[in-house]
Amino acid sequence: MEPLAAKIRPQHLDEFIGQPHLVGKGKPLRVATENGHMFSCIFWGPPGVGKTTLAKIYANGLSAILYELSAVSAKKSDITKIVTAEEEKQKVVFLDEIHRFNKAQQDYLLPFVESGEIVLIGATTENPSFEVISALLSRCRVFVLCEHTDEDMKKIVDRTGFLLENDAKEWVVQMAKGDARQAITLLEQTQELYGSITITTLKDALQSTHLRYDKKGEEHYNTISAFIKSMRASQPDAAVYYLARMLEAGEDPKFIARRMVVFASEDIGLAQPTALVVANDVFRAVETIGLPECAINLSHGVAYLSQCKKDRSSYNALRSAQTDVKKYGNLQIPLKLRNPQTKLMEDIGYGKGYTQYTKESYLPEKLQKKRYFDG
Ligand code: ADP
Repeated sequence: MEPLAAKIRPQHLDEFIGQPHLVGKGKPLRVATENGHMFSCIFWGPPGVGKTTLAKIYANGLSAILYELSAVSAKKSDITKIVTAEEEKQKVVFLDEIHRFNKAQQDYLLPFVESGEIVLIGATTENPSFEVISALLSRCRVFVLCEHTDEDMKKIVDRTGFLLENDAKEWVVQMAKGDARQAITLLEQTQELYGSITITTLKDALQSTHLRYDKKGEEHYNTISAFIKSMRASQPDAAVYYLARMLEAGEDPKFIARRMVVFASEDIGLAQPTALVVANDVFRAVETIGLPECAINLSHGVAYLSQCKKDRSSYNALRSAQTDVKKYGNLQIPLKLRNPQTKLMEDIGYGKGYTQYTKESYLPEKLQKKRYFDG
């Protein structure tokens, strides 16, 4: 069954709540929709503020045909299918989470956007100046959508048609933190579960839905943890298995690559310093190649990191040094290590007795005997 949030999605600008800087009288998206003026654009804003909704209204107003894709799962062939399709109407491609497209995929889109064959509407929660290639960015207008205000959220709650007391409405608005989909979904689930919407039933519903979210989150953390532990135990077979599982579950390959870069220093460190170089290059490859092929780069990195000798001394040293910093605060830095910037400082003894190569400890007085690196 279609979720309520989709069912009550505004079909016209007049039903669209908030974002007056974009859809208010005389504002760019209102004018563009009214005049049938078409251009590619990127909607940048947090989840549930109406990026998808606005894209649909815009495409509708243009009497264009709208293709909806998510960059998480879309492939080059999906774009090819769209551009080769016989179609009289203007093609508008809504690409959700455009930041998940890699450079090669974005490059592929470019000529079609440039020629006007497709009008691209990208949606992203991430800063497009970092995540969208500049050639594409320069052909799109970027519109920033803001989190819904409390007032607007109340209007969105009213659109659900559920009757609820003011205190319950207030509570939902606070919980949803400007995300309309969250608010609508919570109301729908509460009504379904308990048949009425009060603060108590809302809280109960939220708890049970949170548990469900947590489970999803837990699975994610379990898999990444199993992945790291397998590489740590030098078990490439197990590591590549968990890698495959994460990819299958739709994990962002950049997230996996980032963990590998950290692993190279945390678990391998001085035992094989090139591990960091390899991990960094895997990360770069993932960035430029993207899925599905970058899975091979990841697997290559996993095989290498799993088989390297392990040494956690850099990590352990950092942790115990951090513990001491917290425990002792700013201990006096030995005078001889200080920089005598003025005559007065020199007179007090700054820099006095400093010799470059010495076995004498340069740690603060209290920690003289401390060794963070073992051996
Ligand atoms: P986004 O794409 O920004 O994550 P959506 O446009 O999919 O968000 O919004 C999710 C749901 O929230 C919509 O289906 C709609 O019911 C509701 N919604 C979001 N923004 C608005 C808005 N400005 N006015 C009315 N309803 C909205």
